[in-house]
Amino acid sequence: MRAFAVAVFALSLAVVTATAWAAPRVPETPAMIGAQMQRGIDRANASIDIILAIPEDRRTWGNTVAALDRTLGTFDADTSMVQFMAYTHPDVAMRTAARGAEQAWNEWMVDLGKNESLYKALVTVDKSHNHVIDCEQTRLLEHMLRDYRRSGMALPADQRAQLADLEREINKTTQAFDSAINDDPTIVSVTRDELDGMPEAWIDTRTNADGLYLLGMDYPTIVPILDNSPNAALRQKIWMARKRRGGKENVRTLEKLLGLRAQQAAMLGYDHPADFENEVRMSGSAERVQQFYEVLRPMLHKKALLDHAMLTQAKRDATDDDNATLKPWDFSYYMEQIKQRDFNVDGNVVREYFPMTKVRDGLFEIVERLYGVKMVPKNGIVGKDIWHEDVEWFDVVDGDGELLGEFFMDLYPREGKYGHAAQWGLVPRVRLADGRMQKPVAALVCNFPAPTDNMPSLLSHDQTETFFHEFGHGLHTLLAQGEMARFSGTGVERDFVEAPSQMFEAWVWSPQTLPLLSGHYETHEPLPTDLLERMISAKTLGSGMMNETQVHYGLTDLTYHLDPEGDLDTTQVGKDMLAETTMFEPVDETWFQGSFGHLTGYQAGYYGYMWSRVFAEDMAARFKSLGMLNPEAGAHYRATVLGQGGSKSANDMLRDYLGREPNMDAFIVSLGLEPPQVDAATN
Ligand SMILES: [Zn+2]
Repeated sequence: MRAFAVAVFALSLAVVTATAWAAPRVPETPAMIGAQMQRGIDRANASIDIILAIPEDRRTWGNTVAALDRTLGTFDADTSMVQFMAYTHPDVAMRTAARGAEQAWNEWMVDLGKNESLYKALVTVDKSHNHVIDCEQTRLLEHMLRDYRRSGMALPADQRAQLADLEREINKTTQAFDSAINDDPTIVSVTRDELDGMPEAWIDTRTNADGLYLLGMDYPTIVPILDNSPNAALRQKIWMARKRRGGKENVRTLEKLLGLRAQQAAMLGYDHPADFENEVRMSGSAERVQQFYEVLRPMLHKKALLDHAMLTQAKRDATDDDNATLKPWDFSYYMEQIKQRDFNVDGNVVREYFPMTKVRDGLFEIVERLYGVKMVPKNGIVGKDIWHEDVEWFDVVDGDGELLGEFFMDLYPREGKYGHAAQWGLVPRVRLADGRMQKPVAALVCNFPAPTDNMPSLLSHDQTETFFHEFGHGLHTLLAQGEMARFSGTGVERDFVEAPSQMFEAWVWSPQTLPLLSGHYETHEPLPTDLLERMISAKTLGSGMMNETQVHYGLTDLTYHLDPEGDLDTTQVGKDMLAETTMFEPVDETWFQGSFGHLTGYQAGYYGYMWSRVFAEDMAARFKSLGMLNPEAGAHYRATVLGQGGSKSANDMLRDYLGREPNMDAFIVSLGLEPPQVDAATN
């Protein structure tokens, strides 16, 4: 699921050299993190002083708006790597120092939003008629003025000060919520007997302490159990532990945060935080999101009823109990059983065809053929260029030899590391004052099974899809074409940002591309065609119930942000919503929202995954008809979507790309909803 985490603004190095562009270096000590953050702040402050010193009558778009955009672009390049270490550095002292840097960044951004002189400078540019600016330049200025309005610049001075305090409190509380998830210590201890039925090779790689196996909450541990363990009590234990992460303490932190957000929205004149957040998204308002769900939910539910009947029957057959009911921790297990029984798709067999290196090389080849670029590996020194020996580092070079950007891949779990899969846009593309181009830098953080002495890293098909998803974000960051940091790559409306990433998932389902990215780890044979056909047939299995779960997350998140006071029992709301939107009964003593990381950063915006999937499916259809490796289709997509970043509205971009208005047809077909068999034929 997750995410795409974006650093909104971007870049700089402590020392700007006149030589080739290079990614920010990894700090070596906690003190260096603080020092580098401070240098970034000092440099940004100095740039802003220069902007403010320009006389009123000489103010232009270039010396004010572009200069501010560049300042923010270089500020992120200066500071994003040190902040990013909070999620990836193997040393806890470094992670702690990096969180301090992140806090400093947030506080600086809050102050920037309160800088009245800067606001007035922008207003002066807006009112001046002595120069002509184009659409994109106008858009940048409008966005900056909108940011100022949203940070309270239109309020009287005393209220502005109050709002600034509130925003600092919001940032602090947000960080507390995130840290509790990231540092959650949950371990489930189980006996060898409880693991019966799990593959020996998997059991051998678990931590064994004095006879007990210690199971963490990372995906490579929990997904195989939920998918494969015949021991329902073990699945329940793991599922419950997962839904209790963060603890009740983090639920209280969340409820405090919702109250603060409601105060913020009220001060700024919005009915609730959901309208405040959605004003700047494609949806525009909470109401549009509710309408979106209203159209989809009846269709999803029709399919969910069928899914539920099928899975319940599978459980009754397997347990010889005619009254057995389906529990949440049964869902993945019986899905897997049915895949094996009806479609002969055994996840453990499929996995053998997806060694990580083969998937990576295939992904690179697809990208190279579609977009005419090259991925060139670089040798990084641990502790200077890269933060851990597992990290891989690459240049992206365009067909004409121009360096487009750089990216890192950090693919295996380790203690203290960010526990999901995400892409960080560390550095945005922006034209620097001396005319050079700052090149984008991306980082992919995943948690795939690590290789062992006798086994390579083997990805499930889901993990292969996740890899493509995150790389889809990476392409958005790296293939940016514009000159403004604000609109670089993923600087699009938040509910469009998951469209390029979800679109790229289609390449792990295509018979045209699977031979490139699959190869049995022993025989090197590509994924057999008949197995792929069965996987495609099985693709819509459970799609109704799975999408209802997504609706549950989306509507719970939205509901949390619809209350004008933000005064909510989040556990009760979550349970009520579960009963209303899914086929499951709520489970006592669970509080999934305590570790629902999207509630920070994506607040009132979880719906964006399904929303942007509608567009992802619509966009992918063009490749499906022209060819999944068709370079002209790639060039058109690169030019009209990836390269554009946020320089125009997503609605306009979609029209440019599609040559028509977007619609829901491809999405509905992809769920197997209408008619149920069409999906297999179109993939
Ligand atoms: Zn994503």
